[in-house]
Amino acid sequence: MASIKRYRYRAYPTKGQAHALSCLYGCCRFVYNRFVAVRETMFKVGGRMPTFTQLARDLTQSKNDPDTSWLKTVSAVPLQQSLRHARTAYDNYFAWKKGDRKGPEVGKPTFKTRRGTQSAEFTLNSRFKLEHEPGCKWAFLTLPKVGRVKLRWTRDLPTVPKTVTVIRRPCGRYEASFTTITTSRITPKALHAEAGVDIGLLSLGVVRRSDGTCEAIENPRFLKNSERRLRHLDRELARKRKGSRNYEKARTRRARAYQKVKDTRLDYLTKTARRLIDENQAIALETLSITGLAKTRLGKSVLDAGWGTLIRLVTQMGREAGRDIRRISRWYASTQTCCVCHVKDKPKPLNIREWDCPNCGARLDRDANAAVNIMLAAGLAESLNACGGDVNRKLAMPAATSTPMKQEPSETIPLH
Ligand SMILES: [Zn+2]
Repeated sequence: MASIKRYRYRAYPTKGQAHALSCLYGCCRFVYNRFVAVRETMFKVGGRMPTFTQLARDLTQSKNDPDTSWLKTVSAVPLQQSLRHARTAYDNYFAWKKGDRKGPEVGKPTFKTRRGTQSAEFTLNSRFKLEHEPGCKWAFLTLPKVGRVKLRWTRDLPTVPKTVTVIRRPCGRYEASFTTITTSRITPKALHAEAGVDIGLLSLGVVRRSDGTCEAIENPRFLKNSERRLRHLDRELARKRKGSRNYEKARTRRARAYQKVKDTRLDYLTKTARRLIDENQAIALETLSITGLAKTRLGKSVLDAGWGTLIRLVTQMGREAGRDIRRISRWYASTQTCCVCHVKDKPKPLNIREWDCPNCGARLDRDANAAVNIMLAAGLAESLNACGGDVNRKLAMPAATSTPMKQEPSETIPLH
């Protein structure tokens, strides 16, 4: 199955190139924001929205206008792409409003600012050139009207890239992100047939498999662990005079610290998701309302754990690898139901880790019981149902999972 994949490399532009990129970002932002402004005005006065072709023609004209002739100083392709991105942003927003688009809420496009992550996209039309000598640790990306930018080459691209986006993060880091069309990688033969994952905070997830093995995935709480340092940097920034050179320096230091947290988290989640996919043929997950949970008292911890990202990565990688990924309804009471006799009990406060089922008397471990229920609700582990409650009883028993294990991730703990 062919799919579009991104490959990112760190870029090291020279001072002059960084300046050229800065101008380019400014122009892209201008084009994008003008699209949003036109759209909003038209909406207010009830006029007809100009078509994309009209807007593109408009863009060409504004290059001859003395007020906006600076648009000529940068490559034309990223500007057209910005226009396209703005259009797509509105298309997605309206599709979501109408209900044609599934998934999480799509917000209304907003103006781009100087402060966030900056990006400019070049397509093949722009004739960007990528040079890399086999085995060399550096590569060179030649961009029109920017120059030959040095890249740190960390892995080879599978095919010739279709587009490249040059990104500047708030911490001052540059990246070149290439899109390629690739066929999926070869996934190893799965070790386990079916697994249910109960996502949580104490451990990021408890994986219960139909063959009786279980595993707790550690929740490293990246944000929480660096909170002291981040607070210190926040205070330092507050002391500086806005707009001063020292303010800029403190802002960059703070942005770099936050970026570090983000990078470490994404790296951990990617590796975890990859391992889940490689090891299990079928995976059942809950559908969680992350935006809803983020507003609660546990919000910070929920976002720090990265549940949403984990679910997204497992789903995407699983689809690519041809694994069977199933999601169960968010209304299903996986914690309250007993997985042996399927009788629903009262809600349980978070501090209760184990209990006896009031109906059948089975000893249940909170996370293990939930994971088995998720597997059953997803229609996985039919064999479990066929064997009757006995297997379920063993699977849901408080075992090694009652405390999260700090273990090498690839180890599994047999139950018997
Ligand atoms: Zn029961």
